[in-house]
Amino acid sequence: MPVKTTLSTKASSINRALDEIGDKWCLLILQEVFWGINTFNEMLAGTGASRGVLSNRLSWLESMGYLRKDIIAKGQKRPTYHMTKKSIELYRNGLMAMVWERKYFTTPDLDSVELIHDRCGKAFWPMMECSHCNQSVLSTDVSFHKGPGAKNDTRITKTRRRSSNLSASEDRGKTLYNNLINLLGDRWTANIIALAFHGFNRFDDFHTELPVATNILADRLKLLVNEGIFYQQPYQVSPLRYDYHLTDKGRDLFPYFVTLMAWGDKWCTTEDGNPILLKHISCGADLNAEVRCDQCGEGLIATEVHFKR
Ligand SMILES: [Zn+2]
Ligand SMILES: [Zn+2]
Repeated sequence: MPVKTTLSTKASSINRALDEIGDKWCLLILQEVFWGINTFNEMLAGTGASRGVLSNRLSWLESMGYLRKDIIAKGQKRPTYHMTKKSIELYRNGLMAMVWERKYFTTPDLDSVELIHDRCGKAFWPMMECSHCNQSVLSTDVSFHKGPGAKNDTRITKTRRRSSNLSASEDRGKTLYNNLINLLGDRWTANIIALAFHGFNRFDDFHTELPVATNILADRLKLLVNEGIFYQQPYQVSPLRYDYHLTDKGRDLFPYFVTLMAWGDKWCTTEDGNPILLKHISCGADLNAEVRCDQCGEGLIATEVHFKR
């Protein structure tokens, strides 16, 4: 029997979203579906999951409304899985993941893939802009404020999902942002980075905000330093203590978290409203970040984008 624990943490749409999909396998499956892969066997090959794990996560994603399973048609051995409105809207987050991945990792096979925006017919690159002033959104130009839903979330969590790190040597041809998933497919790691964007940078602060064991927290912070997401800076000499700051590579994850938060505000909401409000400092408006085509400037929708090799 899984151990049930009750947690009370500050309400956060990112945290709520990660409760549902902050698992390596779920993220990998969604990545496959975004790419247009929709059969069990193709996902098996693409994700590297075992049959049992894949079935388990597909059922989970289906029950949570991320995937729609198509009834088996004549002559079709296995069902197909398709995006729903909920996962279609998460696609923007997937695009931001891809932008980060391409900036920091070179995958020749992948780098040759073009994204085509069907609406304008052009090869494009996604960009995140403020819908009010149409300027690109920098992490240093956004402030955080308490929203009406800035309360505590109490929830029952089960330690039911464990996932090992993906082996870097495993070759999966059709993956768009495996390195990002490898990093953020662990809930604690993702939550620590999200807190860093809120200005938290000390071990004790992270520990106060997250119901995580100290050894796990120490391990994740070390990982984030090794991966070049955080750098350490001494803030006390005796005894020597360090705090953690986002590097450029870490800061560049901002669009990923902003789109995840906006999505969580819509799909993982409660009647209290949004826990956190963002403001675009340079224009003064509440931030509504849109993911747009750099060719025509239109907002990108999953069903209007395809990949060309
Ligand atoms: Zn603006
Ligand atoms: Zn376009």
